[in-house]
Amino acid sequence: MPIFSLRFFSLFHFHPIFLLVSLFLYFLPAYLARNQPNFTGILLLNLLAGWTFIGWIVALVWALFPEPRPQAAPAQPATTALPQAAAEAVFFCNTCGKPCAAGARFCSSCGATLPAMNR
Ligand SMILES: [Zn+2]
Repeated sequence: MPIFSLRFFSLFHFHPIFLLVSLFLYFLPAYLARNQPNFTGILLLNLLAGWTFIGWIVALVWALFPEPRPQAAPAQPATTALPQAAAEAVFFCNTCGKPCAAGARFCSSCGATLPAMNR
């Protein structure tokens, strides 16, 4: 009986189907992420850190819960939107208390010189 179970164990270990299944399991995170934009990163993490159990888990979590895809605002408009938001930012004049544009040198309401730190 012990000999039989040992034989079964070695057969289980070196069976080509078991090797294929374990190979598939090892690359499961990359397989799940095959249609994602960050597929290359997941594949690299899977390849390089997958043999550490934590690296494999991280790759799997990354594949299952990817970062939200940029739909309306890609990277290029996001950087140009930043100065726009700063120009739209409004602060209040120290002299008259009315709202002024952040980039303005003088208050649009009373004409007072605006402090430099508000620009
Ligand atoms: Zn003013």
